[in-house]
Amino acid sequence: MANEARNRRDIVHYGRLLHERGYVAATDGNLSVRLKGGRILSTPTAMSKADLRPSDLVIADMEGRILAGRHPISSEIAMHLLIYRLRADIGAIVHAHPPTATGFAAAGLALDEPLACEVVIGLGSIPLAKYGTPGTPELSATLRPLVPQYDAILMSNHGVVTYADTLERAYMKMETVEHFAQITLVTHILGRQEPLEEEALEKLVLARSRYKGFRSGAPLPLAGHFGNGNHPERSDKNRSPMESDSARESDQESRPNRRTSFD
Ligand SMILES: [Zn+2]
Repeated sequence: MANEARNRRDIVHYGRLLHERGYVAATDGNLSVRLKGGRILSTPTAMSKADLRPSDLVIADMEGRILAGRHPISSEIAMHLLIYRLRADIGAIVHAHPPTATGFAAAGLALDEPLACEVVIGLGSIPLAKYGTPGTPELSATLRPLVPQYDAILMSNHGVVTYADTLERAYMKMETVEHFAQITLVTHILGRQEPLEEEALEKLVLARSRYKGFRSGAPLPLAGHFGNGNHPERSDKNRSPMESDSARESDQESRPNRRTSFD
């Protein structure tokens, strides 16, 4: 129980940070933590992350059935469950709409140019998933092929999802994505990009094992996925040899979800 109480406080804390930093507006965004016994502690739907209380959170099982809580659960619980099912190493998930990264997602652009060494180490690249209607099985279907490969995904015309072993690290990945989006935007404004060379990239990937904060169970390839095919700059010759074919396979995830309120 002590562990659950701490997780409740952490979700409230990082939800408030998402709001303070402008990564969510109104009732946007959702956060969850995997508790012991296959239970998921999640934010409720349609409530601002600015003033959530620990008692507002909802506990569900891995089928999305409510076990405890006095509010309806997040409309994106199916997306969270998909990630927990596909990634045994994941203990927490953050979904938000940070404006710069979401701008890239709305422009049909992945954040996949190797422009910053820390991002190459920590996330590889940040792919762009095709658009899927929020709160429906479409959204899970678009994310499914990417989740095993990456720890952060842009969702076309929607936002960003990040995940890690702890909520703190999942939140930090969200900050990294938005920060990297801002850096990438500046390179577009300047009209110049100098991506890291192949040799430097190989050294950075090797450095992951020595990097204290690196705890991902995913390969984190450097080449991106382009959900809408809108990426004229990149050709196959730039594709990282680390990228697996299975990552490019599409899949169909279908889970019934009739919710109409989004968060
Ligand atoms: Zn959203």
